[in-house]
Parts: sequence; structure tokens; C-alpha cells
Amino acid sequence: MNTELFLNDLNGLDTENKDVITLYNEISALAMKHAGEIAPTAGKRNAYYLSMEFLIGRSFYNNLMELGVLEQTREILEKKGIDINVFEEIEDAALGNGGLGRLAACFLDSAAGLGLPLHGYGIRYKYGLFKQAIENGFQTELPDDWQRFGDPWSVRRESEKRLIEFADMKVYAVPYDMPVFGKRINRLRLFQAEGEGGAEKISEYLYPADDTEEGKLLRLRQEYFFSAATVAELLDKHVKEHGRNFKTFADYNVIQLNDTHPVIAAAEFIRLLTKKYRLAFATALDVAKRTFAYTNHTVLPEALECWKEDYVTKILPEIADVMKKISVYAVREQTAAGCGKDEVAAMAIYKGETFYMANLAVYIAKSVNGVAMLHTEILKASLFATAHKTYPDKIQNKTNGITHRRWLELCNKEFSSLIDEAIGKDWRGDISRLSALRGKTEGLAEKFIEVKREKKRRLLQYVAEKEGVEVSPDFLVFAQVKRLHEYKRQLMTAFAILDIYYGLKSGEITNFYPSLFIFGAKSAPAYRRAKAIIKFINEIAAKINADESVNKLLKVVFVCNYNVSYAEKIVAGTDVSLQVSTAGLEASGTGNMKFMMNGAVTCGTMDGANIEIVEKAGAENNYIFGAEVDDVERLKAEGYNPEKTLENPVCKRAAEALINGEFSDGGTGGFKELYDSLLKGASWHSPDNYFVLYDLPDYIRALLKINADYSDKRAFAVKQLNNAANSAYFSSDRTIKEYAEEIWHIQP
Ligand SMILES: *Cc1c(COP(=O)(O)O)cnc(C)c1O
Repeated sequence: MNTELFLNDLNGLDTENKDVITLYNEISALAMKHAGEIAPTAGKRNAYYLSMEFLIGRSFYNNLMELGVLEQTREILEKKGIDINVFEEIEDAALGNGGLGRLAACFLDSAAGLGLPLHGYGIRYKYGLFKQAIENGFQTELPDDWQRFGDPWSVRRESEKRLIEFADMKVYAVPYDMPVFGKRINRLRLFQAEGEGGAEKISEYLYPADDTEEGKLLRLRQEYFFSAATVAELLDKHVKEHGRNFKTFADYNVIQLNDTHPVIAAAEFIRLLTKKYRLAFATALDVAKRTFAYTNHTVLPEALECWKEDYVTKILPEIADVMKKISVYAVREQTAAGCGKDEVAAMAIYKGETFYMANLAVYIAKSVNGVAMLHTEILKASLFATAHKTYPDKIQNKTNGITHRRWLELCNKEFSSLIDEAIGKDWRGDISRLSALRGKTEGLAEKFIEVKREKKRRLLQYVAEKEGVEVSPDFLVFAQVKRLHEYKRQLMTAFAILDIYYGLKSGEITNFYPSLFIFGAKSAPAYRRAKAIIKFINEIAAKINADESVNKLLKVVFVCNYNVSYAEKIVAGTDVSLQVSTAGLEASGTGNMKFMMNGAVTCGTMDGANIEIVEKAGAENNYIFGAEVDDVERLKAEGYNPEKTLENPVCKRAAEALINGEFSDGGTGGFKELYDSLLKGASWHSPDNYFVLYDLPDYIRALLKINADYSDKRAFAVKQLNNAANSAYFSSDRTIKEYAEEIWHIQP
């Protein structure tokens, strides 16, 4: 960054009579002008991160911070009578759905921060994840036209566009580069689809509805579109720099596949090497096997991609052929290695006229990683057990992380300054130094209470403006913010709150510290039960908030349109982070890490990265409850029957609240469907598939214990600080260093 020139230009900028959007675009353009160029990649080894999602959030403040001019910009604008916070009206670039997409964004941030050559490749969706509105308690979806504010942080590279061919159409992939600022400027390259005959549709929506054949084909087109554009670019670059010696390709390039969505890149890679460059199939396969690495993000069976052969053949016949041929090689190799029929079948890439993309990924990838210790163990023992036996060195763990720049320095300036005061500023450059806080938590408690109160005050002021619910910053604040999914068990939290409400009303619960529960969540538009849970939460919130006999002690708010910018406020202003997924089902979670780093205790199950959070920060500083993975397995083996839980009046009352008419689902039948899913089972799920009723009583006990402990505010603040002091491990700087050393072998 040429800071001097930037500040000069900013000082000279005429801001009179300009609206916020114009100012946003002009200031961003100035920063882009003086920021410097994306660092060259030639001659060195680079890593490429292929992802369907990059949940970037707002770039403005983050980029100015990374460029080192945020504070000066604030001051200059102030002199011109402009509050820098006005740009909060500019909406997020939500080119992602949740944790997986946010992880991709955190990784790019950390790599740039560490000076490592990691570049992102994905899709420039015209519309990102829908904007959520709540009408009468129900979620409704509005298109997220994020580009209507302009896109000053991207540069269109017209001359680098390339043609992507399907059997029935040709599409241009036009790259837009977003620089990722840090010690090094890396590239996030997002492709936009252009051309005739509906070409633009390919990059129109993130996750188009795929309940029809047309929808499924569109999804496949998206995956192929950006994968093919990336792979062709990297091969061209290699030929330009090193000639047609593809044996050295893997010396210069490593391609990380973020979940299975871009696995088709490996097939396209082999297709190009064999068809265009005339390599023997076995040679091309060998190069691919040394180039690709794969990250698994979920063990939920419904999320493991497979493609019907006739769909693939219809639009990508050569890719179908390549995948079948890979399958032949895999079977041959596995049989030669001594695998039996069942074992070969368990690892099948192509079986019953279907392609199994996770199996393809595991076979092709030189490294397969899970995203938290427990998750990786589950991959080894269950999901990919046969592959693990056959390829024992392939599966490894890389526990996720979050960038402490956005998730602490940017979103919590006050706490960051307190840390500076206590241990100096070194931690900002080297997050491992944050552990110096460990010995100082007792001494910092009073000041931390003040910081937390200030962050709460700001959060609650924002919540009051946006949601119309007023809450005092003296409340104890719990938050469960994440995608709405049955396995994440927002319904269990709703039941727990309801039970506390009944307890307060009847006088069974006394000495209760005033508490607020914040929910934030989007449901997939076609996921009926998730949408019913949103309605249920809004129903109980309305009832409790309106009940004068209780609402001085208990409040509930469902924040609308939860996204990265809302998350930045919520993680800083929360006391208790609710991470209550069914044990074994949350691969890692990263929301849990954001809260921890901002000094919240975790109330959660032994799942995903919660286990490592508790290991680092101490069981005494967190609140763990509920069935563990072993318990869940035992219960399943025994044949868990939720009817039995109804013997406990707590569970009975919770379940009945769905059907006794106390709350209205507006005649949709949604609540009855939830009830049935708990007691009869729904679609292919067994009754209470996620053990909501089973874990509910212990959850309520944990929440009440937290509430009681909070009355000693000082001791509670020390617990919170102990979490922050031990959170360095969860910076994605640590994760990226591990990837760089153990999978990518890249250097600054
Ligand atoms: C961090 C983040 C997530 C992931 O949250 P989990 O609790 O790990 O599921 C999802 N959405 C947004 C906007 C986030 O910032």
C-alpha cells in the first residue's frame, strides 16, 4: 500500500453532497488504486483453493484494516463530517451459505496475512445467499442483489476469459479478481458465466433449488463451470512457464478441494491431459493424484454428493467417461492391494449407474482431511473406514480456525485494546502470543466486564433498531447463531427456553439472573421442518417478550438475516455460546471459535471442535452436557425410543407444546410435523433422529447452572477470559500453517 498517496487522495476527495454508496465506491477505488498489485505466482509453488462458496462478508472495513489505513480513514472522514460507520449500510457479499464458505474466506485472509501463496477460485454469483425477511414469524426469501452497491474490490479480466463447453451449450467464464490483502496480496478469482442461450444462469444463484432434474443439472453445470475454468488456467500457465512437462505440474501446484463440489476438477484435469495434451491415461491419473487434496466437511449422509450417470452423460459425456475409467483403475488397484469385493464396493466411485463424488475425492486426493479431531476420527472409523484401511496415510486432521483479524481485531476493538494493555501488541502479528494472557485473567476481570458490557450495549442497540426488541445490557446474553438445521438443534434450545419460562412463571425457578437468548439462522428455502422451527422460535419469543410477569427476567430475539456483519456484532457482545449439535454430527463448527476468542463460555455438547475448545480452555471454564458420541451409538444400537423420554414431565411438556394449541403455526401443519419427527420419525429418519428429547433435561440443567454462576460476575468474567486466553489455537493462521507445512508444502 502506498499509504501516503492514499491518504493524500482521500484528503482531497470531494465528499460534499455524495450519497453513501458513491462514497463507498470512491474510497474503495482509491484504496484499490494504491494498494499494489496481486503478487506474481510464476516460478514458485502455489496452492489453489477451489470452493463453491466464499462467504466474504463486508470487505470495506476489513480491507482498510489489512492495508493499515482504517484508523486514518476514520479520522479523515470524521474531519469531513462523515461517520465511517455509515458504510455498514452496504450489504455483505454473501457468496456462501455458512461455515464452509466462511472458512474459505478465513483461510484466504490467513494465507495473505502469513505471506503464503494461496489463491481462491470460485463463482461470482449474481445473487448470493438470499436475504431473509421474517413475516408473521415465517422466513421469506428475497434475492440478494449485492452488486447493486457496486463491486469496487473486484477487477474484471476480460482478456482472460475462456470458453467452457457442455454437450449442449458453450459458456464464457469471465474472471473477476478480488485481491486478498496481507503481508502478500493474493488472488481470489471468481468466474462469471456469460454468453448466449441461458449461459448467464450458471452464475446467477448460489445453490439453485435442486429438487427438479433441471435444477440438478444446473448445479452440476456450476460445479463443472468453475472447476474447468480453473484447471484449464493452471494447465495453460504451466505450459507457458515449464513447457509440456506435466510430470513437474505437481511440483508447482497443489489444488485443495473444499468439500466434494469441485471434485469434478480432477476429472476435467485428466480429460485435458489426455485429450488436449495426449498424455497416457495412467500418466494423467498419476499427475492428478499428486496434485489434488480433499477436505471433507460433513458425515451427514444426505450431504454426500452423488451424480446419476445419465445426468452427467447428458451434459458432460467425456467427463462421465473419465470418471468411469478412473473407477476401473481404482478397482484394479484396490483389488491388487488385496481388498475384497465388499471393500471395493465400499470405496466405489461408480456403482449402479451413479458416481460417488466423495469416494472419487478420497481415491484421487493425495491427502484427505477432516476439520476437527473428532470428525477426523469418525472419518477413519466410519465414513471412510475401508479407504483408511487401504490407504492408511491418506486421512489427516486439520482443525478449522477463524481469522483473528476480522473476528477479534476488527469486530472487537475494545477487547483488542485491553489485550494490548495487558500483554503488548505482538499478538496481532503472531497470534500464538495471545497465550501470554493466561496468567493475567484474574487481574483483567473488572476491565473485561466493562468491555463486555460496552459490546453488549452496542449489539443490543442494534438489535433494538433492527428487530424492535429492547433489552438492557445488564442481561446475561446467550446466542445460538448458525444455519438452521435439525442436527444443530435450535429446537432443543427453544424447548429449554420454554421450560425456563414455565419455571419462572410457576415460581419453580427462583434467583434467576435476567437472560436474553439470541437466535440467528437461515433455513434452506425448501427445508420445511427447519422453517417450522423458525416459526416456533418466533412464536415463543412473541409470547415470552409480551408476558409482563416474566419479561424482566427472560427475553428471546430471533435476529433477521443473520450474516457475517451481524455475526461480527453478536460474537463480541455475547456471554454464552450455544453449540449444542448432536454428538458426532457437527464436523467442527467455527462459530464456536469466534465466540471463544471474544471471551464467551461455551455451553455445548462434546462435538466437533467443542472438544478441543474445552481441552484448551479447561472444562471448569465451559459447560458441557448431553450424550457423547459413544452414548449416541449405544442408544442407536439399543433402539432409542423417544416415547420413553416422555415419562420425564420436562420432555412431555416440550413435545406437547408443539401440538396443544398453545402456539400457532398459522395452519401450516409445521408444528405437528416437528412433533411427528420427534415421536414417529420423518422421511428416512428414525424418531427423534437428533436426540433432542434425550438431551433436553441435561441441557436445561447446564443453562440453569450458567445462570447461577453468572451471579458471581467476576468469577464468570475470569472463565470468559480463560477462554479468550486459550483461543490462539483456533486462529486460522495456525490452521493455514499446518496446511502449508503438511499438505501444500508452500512457503512465503
Ligand atoms: C462463522 C459463521 C458460520 C458458521 O457457524 P457455525 O456455528 O460454525 O455453524 C455461519 N454463518 C456465518 C455468517 C458465520 O459468520
